[in-house]
Amino acid sequence: MSINQLGDVYIEASDLAAWEAFGSDILGLQLVSKDNGRLAFRMDQHEQRIVVVKGPADDVSISGWEAESEAALLESVARLKAAGVAVEEGSKELAKERRVERVFSCVDPDGNRLELYYGPAITHEPFRSKVLRSAFVTGAQGLGHCFLIAKKDRKATLDFYVGALGLKVSDYIRQEIAPGIVADAAFLHCNGRHHSLGVAAMPVPKRIHHVLLEVADISDVGRAYDRVNDAGIPLEMTLGMHPNDKMLSFYVRTPSGFAIEFGFGGLQVDDSNWTVKSFDQLSEWGHRPPAQQTAAA
Ligand code: FE
Repeated sequence: MSINQLGDVYIEASDLAAWEAFGSDILGLQLVSKDNGRLAFRMDQHEQRIVVVKGPADDVSISGWEAESEAALLESVARLKAAGVAVEEGSKELAKERRVERVFSCVDPDGNRLELYYGPAITHEPFRSKVLRSAFVTGAQGLGHCFLIAKKDRKATLDFYVGALGLKVSDYIRQEIAPGIVADAAFLHCNGRHHSLGVAAMPVPKRIHHVLLEVADISDVGRAYDRVNDAGIPLEMTLGMHPNDKMLSFYVRTPSGFAIEFGFGGLQVDDSNWTVKSFDQLSEWGHRPPAQQTAAA
């Protein structure tokens, strides 16, 4: 028993008005509350999956990892403590604010805050998106994935997430992205989703490179691409496909400067027959910087 999904993500953002419009009108999340400098968005039956809190960081502030039961949560906490990680239980008030039964928090070797919890609040109200025709792919696969930047040593990051938290390696991608600069990425899973966490050491100032949201219909990717372009929001990368998870996706810049990967058709991992692989390119095709797209047009 261990952590079984990336359940929620907290973002600290300086411009909540921009996030409100971006989240609802561009991404198709459902805004469910907006009070005291805090926006809560739904993607499915969970009362909240993505929470944006007012603050100067413009970065991810917490990734929330869900356990299937109280016993599984306590087992994960014990495993982290045995690995020498300082873990603290949050108060009842914090658990209530997080809409979960019990919550613990700790910090990874790069200084990223994690919360481990069980018992997310589920609402009977149907999920309503202003713009999606299908739905977000969540359920047992969790909200999507986070791609974090390892600031120090990627080995320490993997020792934490694989060794102590119990995630499993799906594969690696190593590509020289500029002379002498190798992007060395590891992709980790804890359910059928190919990866719930990606991590690479890259010279990037933020903690997070992107959060992936997956939709159930390819047309919802195309329509989101149109909305981004119509609104004049900068792309980070054009449409493309990764060789490992086969996600058809594009990357759009959020109001906080990191990216959202918006995709369809991600591969699922079956642990009974999965083999860890190592790829030599980040994308099979596409995922180009927008300037290249313009130059080619
Ligand atoms: Fe991704």
